[in-house]
Amino acid sequence: MSETDDKLAYEALIQFLYRTPIGLLQAAPDGHIDLMNPMAAQLLMPLVAEAALDDLYTVFAGVAPQLRGAVDAFAAPSGVIAEGLRIDVPDQGGGAKVLSLSVMKLDAQRLMATLSDVTVDTRREHDRLVHRLTAAARTDPLTQMPNRGAVLEELQAILVRGKRRPAGQGFAVLFMNCDRFRQVNDMLGQSAGDELLVLVADRIRTVLRPPTDRIGGVQRSGQLAARVGGDEFVVVLDGLRRVEDAESVAGRLIAAIGRGYHVAGHEIVCNVSIGIAWGDGLEPDELLRDAGIAMLEAKQAGGARYVRFAAAMRERAARRNDIETDLRLALQEDQLYVEYQPVVALHADGSTDRAAGVEALVRWRHPQRGIVPPFEFIGIAEECGLIGAVGDFVLEQACRDFVRWRAELGGRAPRLLAVNLSRAQLTEGSWAGTVARILEETGMAASMLQLEVTESLAAQDADVQQRLHELKALGITLALDDFGTGYSSLASLHLLPVDTVKIDRSFVSQSETSHHHRVLIEATVKVAQSLGMNTVAEGIETVAQADVVRGLQCDKGQGYLYSRPLGSPALSDWLMR
Ligand code: C2E
Ligand code: MG
Ligand code: MG
Repeated sequence: MSETDDKLAYEALIQFLYRTPIGLLQAAPDGHIDLMNPMAAQLLMPLVAEAALDDLYTVFAGVAPQLRGAVDAFAAPSGVIAEGLRIDVPDQGGGAKVLSLSVMKLDAQRLMATLSDVTVDTRREHDRLVHRLTAAARTDPLTQMPNRGAVLEELQAILVRGKRRPAGQGFAVLFMNCDRFRQVNDMLGQSAGDELLVLVADRIRTVLRPPTDRIGGVQRSGQLAARVGGDEFVVVLDGLRRVEDAESVAGRLIAAIGRGYHVAGHEIVCNVSIGIAWGDGLEPDELLRDAGIAMLEAKQAGGARYVRFAAAMRERAARRNDIETDLRLALQEDQLYVEYQPVVALHADGSTDRAAGVEALVRWRHPQRGIVPPFEFIGIAEECGLIGAVGDFVLEQACRDFVRWRAELGGRAPRLLAVNLSRAQLTEGSWAGTVARILEETGMAASMLQLEVTESLAAQDADVQQRLHELKALGITLALDDFGTGYSSLASLHLLPVDTVKIDRSFVSQSETSHHHRVLIEATVKVAQSLGMNTVAEGIETVAQADVVRGLQCDKGQGYLYSRPLGSPALSDWLMR
């Protein structure tokens, strides 16, 4: 290589160092800057203001004061002292900048520093992070569905879009709550509950397909499915023509979600109740509230159904709220008490035995409302988790009264105490233990206690059956209440662990006039007899009804004809009469 060639190569190198968009500088370990390219000067200028660019440590004193210490501490003969240090350069007119600084030790005499402007990268990364964080803030971590915040945003967006919407189009909010979800959590544990929620979310997505492309969780077709609370989901449907379109989606959701699940080795059923609010002129949170109110109505009506919101429901919801608040107080202030309705044995000769049994029925003496009947508060107590306390109170009080009658009335005392049981009481793992304790404390004989369960409860999954068998193991008997109104038929009676079938009042009241109802009673009695179960006719109000059910060989009867539910002293009088 000639000298000229060398010179050219050197020139080229200098040009390269000069023009590179990376700041390069060389300094002595004491900080004195020996060489620097124009890019370095440009990047460092804002850091030094009026001062000179001749000392590395002075230049970085304000933004990377640790630099000198790092250099001094670096004992190795050469190597990387610092890499990618973030230097925030304050705004000097051209906007704030972010630099990345790396410092290398070349040898004992020389340090080399590189500087690059990473402002744009940093901003981009920041944007990405913000985006990720906002997406996370709008996403439910369990199901990866949008959350409540996202729903409110979407509704707000729909309202804005709505101003430009073609006439005759609207949107709907579907508020869904899983029926008896608490039971799954209580019986199978929280993680099984979580697993179920993920599966439910999948079913919801399946129903809302085909829209495949999603933007930030929002499906482009104007459908949004979100999880807004424990077992609560919301679907927003935009661009609908009529509320009936929302109802048809609700129907499909109910069918899809209601198909069985396999969770934690169990087959479980999870239905949903859906409230539908049609979006007209309301704010997002008002829409969600109305849909939620309609959902509660769907639940009250038995669940696994949808209900369209109507304004009258607001008042009922407020009342329900009041009742919940007041019921908590009622439990503390002893406003609840128990009445007893006699159950008489029906003899073939037309006579009755008054001492066959009593059914305990809870009452609430409300300081302002007066006597509140159970149908107004049992359902609410079940929903808000108060039923356990109510049920335990009734059981304990009834056992005490019953034991006292046994002691005081001799042969005229009732021989059986029937107490109603709510399904929610069975989800408490230890309830059989509570019953055993109450029997023990009150001195009540297990064989004289009968718990009444409804068809829908008794027919439920294996776990419920297991709980019922635990109760029976205590020596208690079970009765199937309101038979004929639920969904289990005569054909499945043999599957239920019950000893007594109580034929619902609606059959008894029509037994005189309707041949059909008479036949149903007769069939029920026959099937029950063949299974070794006895029968009670509920709600007998007239002598004619009593004659019909006796003729059909019902074992026992209960109803206003014999007596209305009575307080304990009045019942004693009735028994002694
Ligand atoms: P149920 O267990 O079927 O109780 C019978 C209901 O029918 C009682 O209503 C009783 O007063 C009423 N009844 C009895 N005979 C006649 C009659 O001849 N004609 C008419 N029209 N009605 C009659 P009540 O006391 O209002 O209770 C309603 C329901 O509330 C009960 O139905 C039961 O399901 C529930 N319930 C009552 N007490 C309790 C309780 O302590 N715990 C639970 N979980 N549920 C309860
Ligand atoms: Mg009952
Ligand atoms: Mg009944």
